[in-house]
Amino acid sequence: MNKVSNAERKHIVFIGKRNVGKSSLINAFAGQEMSIVSNTAGTTTDPVRKAMELLPFGPVVLVDTAGIDDIGELGEKRVSKTMKAISSADFVLFVIDATECLDEIEKKYISNLINNKIAFAFVLSKIDLGINKNLIAELNSFKVPVLETSAINSEGIHQLKERVSKLIPDEVDIPLVSDFLEKGDIIMLVVPIDPGAPKGRIIKPQVQALREALDGNAITIVVQTDEIKEALGKLKEPPKLVVTDSQAIAKVSEDVPEEIPLTTFSILMARSKGELSKLMNGINEIDKLNDGDRVLISEACTHHAQKDDIGRVKIPRWLKSFSKKNIEIDIVAGRDYPEDLSKYNLVIHCGACMITRTEMLSRIKQAELNGIPIVNYGLIISFMHGAIPRVLKPFV
Ligand code: SF4
Repeated sequence: MNKVSNAERKHIVFIGKRNVGKSSLINAFAGQEMSIVSNTAGTTTDPVRKAMELLPFGPVVLVDTAGIDDIGELGEKRVSKTMKAISSADFVLFVIDATECLDEIEKKYISNLINNKIAFAFVLSKIDLGINKNLIAELNSFKVPVLETSAINSEGIHQLKERVSKLIPDEVDIPLVSDFLEKGDIIMLVVPIDPGAPKGRIIKPQVQALREALDGNAITIVVQTDEIKEALGKLKEPPKLVVTDSQAIAKVSEDVPEEIPLTTFSILMARSKGELSKLMNGINEIDKLNDGDRVLISEACTHHAQKDDIGRVKIPRWLKSFSKKNIEIDIVAGRDYPEDLSKYNLVIHCGACMITRTEMLSRIKQAELNGIPIVNYGLIISFMHGAIPRVLKPFV
């Protein structure tokens, strides 16, 4: 079976007030039960995610969220999770009860989607109970598609799926290495198999680089750190590009002659999943760190931490020793990226291989809105090892 990770799927986020029939609609869309459906307002708490194949578009993740009008202390937390889901959405379906008119909360969310340039459509639910003509006139004024459905008798569901297939923005993914390579070029991937390496497999950016090289009919050589010199010596022509695990950058930059372009998987990820230029800006803040400053290390997934883990152990150790400052470090994982970053002086983010580009861009934007510099693992590691000019050279 061809397994596609959630990071490679477009995220369709369903939002709407409590009890507009959002969960029934999403279950009808998915063709199976993925949300708890109840007549009690506010049944959905954390966003619920379901991967599916949306034909003819392809692999997507459906995200069901709590009501945008949720109340109370818990309600506020749910709404904040809904906001996070919206900011990382590739497409939003805004579910509205067909029998009512827009209220102030719905109008606020519509403005928010428009101002943040998030692609969306309105979905009228419960059309079996009638359609409010004034509502249609109001919605048409936003010049956004309005789709009519009833989850009770499945009316409009098939048409909704077909329209959404066409409406999802078809953003071109930024590759890791394929745009550097032509048919017959040699690429060398440096993959250290040390105690920090996962058992029995190689990690996602390495797999992706390998696959892109194979797709482009480039010749790929995969070596460990100690084999670089020997491998280079056996080649009749130098590699077009050498890509290394960031943690080995000091040794690799010594062993790979200066004239051969060299970068790291993590820097390629910064370009593919985020915005390299914005993540590079964060580097300038490292020298400005002072005693008592707070740094947030953010990992996008909740993987099992290895001994001498890069995010939890090595980067904190290197950062303290490099800056010679008494820095406070917090670590968050998965979807726990804080909305309020104002107490931090710097955010250090992982390569983000397990989340979508949209989600990583929204994390970068959040840091920008808070006025906090952000950098990723590969850039900070290369910086602390004095290798930044070398590893960025392939991009200038
Ligand atoms: S921590 Fe980040 S880079 Fe590492 S595996 Fe998880 S998502 Fe990928």
